[in-house]
Amino acid sequence: MITIKLGDITLEENIDCIVNAANERLVGGGGVDGAIHRAAGPSVMTECRQIGSCPTGSAVITSAGDLKVLHIIHTVGPIWYGGAQGEPQQLKDAYYNSFKKALEYKIKSIAFPAISTGVYGYPKNEATLIALSVGLEFESKFDEIRYTCFSKSDLTNYQLTLHKLRG
Ligand code: ADP
Repeated sequence: MITIKLGDITLEENIDCIVNAANERLVGGGGVDGAIHRAAGPSVMTECRQIGSCPTGSAVITSAGDLKVLHIIHTVGPIWYGGAQGEPQQLKDAYYNSFKKALEYKIKSIAFPAISTGVYGYPKNEATLIALSVGLEFESKFDEIRYTCFSKSDLTNYQLTLHKLRG
C-alpha cells in the first residue's frame, strides 16, 4: 500500500523505518537530515561516523535512537545541476537502493521524505514522479510505503502524481 501524508517525518510512528535525505559524508546538516539527527539523538550520529560515508545514490542503515521507529535508512540524493549530469538516475538509485536495503533487513513499512527537493534543488514535479514510480515497483513487497510531505503543496503534488501514474 502506498500512503501519502502531511507531516514531520521525525514524528512518524506505526512504521518500521524512515529514510533520511543525508549527504555523502553522513555528517548531518540542515533540513530533514538535521531534524532527524536532533530528534534521534547522538547514538545515530555515532553509527553514521562508524559507517563513514555514503556515495550519491546509495543507502546505509542505522538504528533509530530516540525515534519511534526501528531503523533509519540514510540515502544520498543528487544535487541538481540542471538535469544533464545524471541526476534522474541518481535520484532513482537513491529510492531503489533504500528499498533494497529495507528488504535486506526484512523491513515491511517505510516512510520517505522528498529526497533532494530542499537544499539540493531538485525540481519538485520531476522528483515526485521518480519517488512514486520507484515506489510503485516495490509496492507489493511492503505493507506500507509512506511519503511524508512537509508542505500542503507537496501533498497535493504527490496525490495528483500518484493518481496519474496509476492511470
Ligand atoms: P536535500 O538536501 O536532499 O534537498 P532537504 O532536507 O533540504 O534535503 O529537503 C528535502 C525535503 O525534505 C524538502 O522537501 C523539505 O521540505 C523536506 N523536509 C524538511 N524537513 C522535514 C521534516 N522534518 N519532515 C519531512 N520532510 C522534511
